[in-house]
Amino acid sequence: MTIPEHIAQSNGSPRISFELLPPIKGSSINTIFETLDKLMPFNPPFINITYHREEVSYMRQADGNLKPAVVRKRPGTVAIAAAIQAKYKVDVVPHIICGGFSRQETEDALIDLDFLGIKNLLVIRGDGDKITGRFKPNPHGHRYASGLIEQIINMNKGIYSEQYVQNPTHTGFSIGVAGYPEKHPEAPNLDDDLFYLKQKVDKGAEYIVTQMFFDNQVFFNFVKRCREAGINVPIIPGLKPVSIKEHLHVLPRTFSLTIPSALAKELQKCSDNNQVRDVGREWTTAQIKELHANGYPFSHIYTMGKVDQIVKISENVL
Ligand code: FAD
Repeated sequence: MTIPEHIAQSNGSPRISFELLPPIKGSSINTIFETLDKLMPFNPPFINITYHREEVSYMRQADGNLKPAVVRKRPGTVAIAAAIQAKYKVDVVPHIICGGFSRQETEDALIDLDFLGIKNLLVIRGDGDKITGRFKPNPHGHRYASGLIEQIINMNKGIYSEQYVQNPTHTGFSIGVAGYPEKHPEAPNLDDDLFYLKQKVDKGAEYIVTQMFFDNQVFFNFVKRCREAGINVPIIPGLKPVSIKEHLHVLPRTFSLTIPSALAKELQKCSDNNQVRDVGREWTTAQIKELHANGYPFSHIYTMGKVDQIVKISENVL
């Protein structure tokens, strides 16, 4: 089922989808299964699996010098999505990113997903590189998510970039994209960002999942601005429970978002991260309840490995 179909079918009942990171290289798929064994009792409509581009790490050499090496620390999004789908019979949404991939490599990954019967994709540009923060596309890849959407929509029509593909399958991918209630960090203003968000929808995106936010009013304003800009697809709120005190500074710095003062004051009072997790749990619970009361039954939670806190939130709201 596509994500808009899930939303239509829910008839307004609250549902929570979860977003997982592929485990660090060297771990086993069981780390994902252990997380999902705790989350599946909440009947998530779908599970997202993030994608991570290669990055530069510095390896210490025998002579003590550091040498840069390109590493991919979290591989396996396609395989993990397939394993989750097979084990739990739940719809999976692998993320497909522009960063680090040529069009042909992307096409190969999409062919694999199509073979595996995985039809839902979250299509995004990907983060900039960890050192400069700047996004540099692969010379044969896409600079923006909208280019990647075009490639996927072409495959849905049977148009592939590889010349030798004979009688190509019309893939039936359903595409979601990212939206930013407090604007994307690189966008000069929200109007400009919404212009490009609308472009992604016009090119074929069927729904939007937002960046995390901690003030629901920010989300409500964003939805209003989207509707005024002619963006009429479903918008799913993305939420992250605060779980360590450092989030107070790290989240605004990393994602250019605001922590409301009421939440910041509560977090500043915490003497350890157990207390922080309690505050984060209560805040996200209240957010989900208010979103639901205002006509947004679906919430998408960035789990980031904090499964026990998320289990408690799910118990509170479902
Ligand atoms: P785009 O839509 O391409 O936009 C990027 C910037 O360029 C914006 O400022 C936009 O306004 C501007 N822009 C867009 N099109 C144009 C154009 N044609 N001309 C000029 N400017 C333009 N990152 C990962 O690496 N892996 C993940 O799995 C991942 N999952 C995510 C899931 C969600 C729900 C969200 C919200 C983010 C996720 N990210 C992930 C982070 C994401 O990759 C970054 O936020 C990235 O910087 C932007 O991605 P995007 O798809 O929104 O980019």
